[in-house]
Amino acid sequence: MFTLSADLHTHTIGSGHAFSTVKEMAGAASEKKLSVLAVTDHGSAMEGASGAIYFRNLSVLPRNIGSVTILKGIEANIMDMDARLDADAPLLSRLEWVIASLHENVTAPATSAAHTEMYLKLADNPLVDMIGHPDTPAYAFDYERVIREFGAKGKIVEVNNEHAFCHGAQNGKNCARIASLCKKHGVRIAVNSDAHIFSKVGEVGAALVMLDEIEFPEELILNLKHERVLDYIKSKRALFV
Ligand SMILES: [Zn+2]
Ligand SMILES: [Zn+2]
Repeated sequence: MFTLSADLHTHTIGSGHAFSTVKEMAGAASEKKLSVLAVTDHGSAMEGASGAIYFRNLSVLPRNIGSVTILKGIEANIMDMDARLDADAPLLSRLEWVIASLHENVTAPATSAAHTEMYLKLADNPLVDMIGHPDTPAYAFDYERVIREFGAKGKIVEVNNEHAFCHGAQNGKNCARIASLCKKHGVRIAVNSDAHIFSKVGEVGAALVMLDEIEFPEELILNLKHERVLDYIKSKRALFV
């Protein structure tokens, strides 16, 4: 079984429907023996989420809280089938970790063909680091074609424990299929909690069981090692210190 070093998808009270502060989330990460925590509150199109000024001001967060390195990020909403996001390029380029996700209360599902074209366009966006929870049944797409393209464009594909294993059996099946394709095509993944409260930070047990079952190669798991995460961030962001 893998032991992870980072949780790269978490929400604070800044999301409007999550319940812990950055300090509480960092404390929970430390208790779970994680050394990197990405704060990735929802983009402004999500009901109740913070506006652009909140994300610009993430620069006030310290690099470390206790023993935990803090990454200043966002879970941007994919707004339409042209892969437009609810944060502009100047804002995204200031952040250290950018997730792009579809949410049914923001963007209505379309056809599988439209989702496929959308993800192929998203793969071309250099400001996006990770594709959030791609397992949603309502947003089915051509997994093989898109996963190959994510790999070609250096995107990280998320295995989201909460989304895949707490929202119905089909999500979990889709997640396992996507992970198997990442293994086949050598595409990196990150395994995250999507915690909306401190007690869920680092909770990825079901995802790790699935990865074990499909004998997923550890070298493709970005957040397995602290240095692996920071090397990735530094490779994309010259200003990261
Ligand atoms: Zn999400
Ligand atoms: Zn989330």
